[in-house]
Amino acid sequence: MGILVRYASLLPLTASTPPVNLEEGSTPLAALPRVGERLGIELWGKLEGCNPSGSFKDRGMVLAVAKALEDGAKALICASTGNTSASAASYAAAAGIPCFVLLPAGKVALGKLAQALMYGATVIAVRGNFDKALELARQAAAERGCAMVNSVNPYRLWGQRTGAWEICEALGDAPDWHAIPVGNAGNISAYWAGYTEYKRLGRAAKTPRMMGFQAEGAAPLVTGKPCPAPETVATAIRIGSPVSASLARAAVSESGGEFNSVTDEEILSAQRLLASLGGIFAEPASCAPLAGLVKLKAQNRLPEGIKVVMVLTGNGLKDPDTAMGQVGRPLEIGDSLDDLLGVMDNAARGAAR
Ligand SMILES: *Cc1c(COP(=O)(O)O)cnc(C)c1O
Repeated sequence: MGILVRYASLLPLTASTPPVNLEEGSTPLAALPRVGERLGIELWGKLEGCNPSGSFKDRGMVLAVAKALEDGAKALICASTGNTSASAASYAAAAGIPCFVLLPAGKVALGKLAQALMYGATVIAVRGNFDKALELARQAAAERGCAMVNSVNPYRLWGQRTGAWEICEALGDAPDWHAIPVGNAGNISAYWAGYTEYKRLGRAAKTPRMMGFQAEGAAPLVTGKPCPAPETVATAIRIGSPVSASLARAAVSESGGEFNSVTDEEILSAQRLLASLGGIFAEPASCAPLAGLVKLKAQNRLPEGIKVVMVLTGNGLKDPDTAMGQVGRPLEIGDSLDDLLGVMDNAARGAAR
């Protein structure tokens, strides 16, 4: 069942809200014992890449689109670093309405671009960064009466609370730390709202420390000032002026958490660690939290034995170029068994070393 059914009583639905549903949410919370052991903690990954369009964006999009349809919207518009557009385009296709997506030209991962085009959205590449594309989308939405489904849309953050609720239900309580990548800062704010709501309702005994991780080249919440030219390999968090900055700051300070930044090199190394030791392939932005935990561990700032949930926000298949840039090529052989056995024995010797 999708989240509008699973969490109907906690979402702002009315009798006339259409039952939009792509079976989003209810994603696995995977134990990551080999990675956790290396860090000396109990580590879990919330596999948001298992959502229908491959990222957590579907949780907020399903509600935003349902409410837009309820209000009679005839078209959707959004600006996106990639995943919002993929999600919006997918729900628009399912609902049978047009969708306009504005992307920063040349800065969107290949898989996400393929998705938006495949779902049939009108995809517009803006020669400018995400922040500029967002401003344009806002103006066009007002001019043409399209429903704006960026995270400025309050239903997006509301729908995203469901991730926190699922984690509390899976673990029987909130974790000690909630580690999450931060771009526009909507998701960290939504998770905090979800956790505090569950505590208030008596469905969780505590709330976690909210640990937000940004890329060093796009870290306005770490430095305390907007970043005019954000740059990072983690394109989903390449944002210089987060729309939900003040909500996110409140989440971190109320929860006793922190914002930290990690370099692109640390992010890519965490991506390989998660894949090779955890068996999970997540996109670069999703690996900023693991990079941050590795860094905090090295600085003796990661308490031994705590329970940590990382949100693995998007599927690794969305950005094949970045992945291929850091791994080797396949071993090519002739079609003889000798060739094959030779390569296998070599690989086994390599692994044993
Ligand atoms: C959107 C996105 C983020 C950033 O989330 P915000 O709510 O903008 O902070 C992180 N990772 C992925 C994969 C995303 O798509």
